[in-house]
Amino acid sequence: MPTAQLINELQSYGVRLVDPIAGHESRRGGAGPSDHKALTIEGMTVMVPVHTAPAFSSPYFVEKPDASGRSRVSRDGVILGEASFPRRPRFYELVTADGVPYWKIAVLHGRDVLATTVLQTCVRYLSRTKTCQFCAIGQSLAAGRTIERKTPAQLAEVAKAAVALDGVTHMVMTTGTPPGRDRGAAILAESALAVKAAVDLPIQGQCEPPDDDGWFARMKHAGIDSLGMHLEAVTPPVRARIMPGKAQVSLDRYFEAFAAAVPVFGRGQVSTYILAGLGDAKEAILAACEKLVALGVYPFVVPFVPISGTPLESHPPPTPAFMHEILQPLARMLRAAGLRATDIKAGCGKCGACSALSTYERDAAERETWEAAE
Ligand code: SF4
Repeated sequence: MPTAQLINELQSYGVRLVDPIAGHESRRGGAGPSDHKALTIEGMTVMVPVHTAPAFSSPYFVEKPDASGRSRVSRDGVILGEASFPRRPRFYELVTADGVPYWKIAVLHGRDVLATTVLQTCVRYLSRTKTCQFCAIGQSLAAGRTIERKTPAQLAEVAKAAVALDGVTHMVMTTGTPPGRDRGAAILAESALAVKAAVDLPIQGQCEPPDDDGWFARMKHAGIDSLGMHLEAVTPPVRARIMPGKAQVSLDRYFEAFAAAVPVFGRGQVSTYILAGLGDAKEAILAACEKLVALGVYPFVVPFVPISGTPLESHPPPTPAFMHEILQPLARMLRAAGLRATDIKAGCGKCGACSALSTYERDAAERETWEAAE
């Protein structure tokens, strides 16, 4: 089975782990996609659902790792490939001077990404009528797996250690949306300033579009190298149903903000996360991607994962065929526009672990090379 197809299948169905403690801790709760475990397949590290309802009945199994850390991936007794689990990061052993374990401040995502949610509360999460239906930002906080507000000093300390001990190469800073018109830009800027003063680490900031476009230059000046403003859903009815609070910021405002941010951060350094499988038709997702790519924005399309404990925990994930029909033309669109995951300085598009998109990009590039050689 081609690697892109296998990753698509694993991300849609999830996997059953024969050894549930293989690899380091899985990501549960928190902002954005969750309930995953990192697996490396054919050199690509991807996040695969393991704690979701579909994963519990997945036809895919990952066997217990052998002495060298390799596991076999199988379906119906047929071995489809090999996988390995990234090791537990060394920085997880450390504790700040004020007694907070480093892993409560930031965690390892994928293979080499340090990820943190600077503010673990969100103005949209206070009421079930406003909350994004897929989000679990409050769950990890309620379970004591993180702290509410990571200070700039704590983030700088952890980032420095993660680079030194675990070879982390970029950092994702996301945030719940605080009250106020900057929508999180201000705390991202102060956090980035502190991290950059401690260690030379490319940073992606992720927030809703602030009301004032002047924040883009302020964030860039503070040390944020690339910016994520996440649409999640691309049509007004799906946005209103799935994310009633966040949908109050209109699609028009998102696109105005993209147009204002690209000249500040550069073409391909502004990205948006789109969750496929929430109700938007593939044609609508591809049409939105075309508009984004024309602006120089990288659309990172990922399969929706139904996180346990959220209102969407029983919503089915998209099928592998649905993802394939989006990711294959999207990879070609990105190639044609000269936008590449590998050129992004920091963030989810660069990491790529939550989607098979970068594998499709790699396949599209290889196909172009063969065609040129023929
Ligand atoms: S793509 Fe983003 S959310 Fe997914 S593992 Fe990578 S950094 Fe984390």
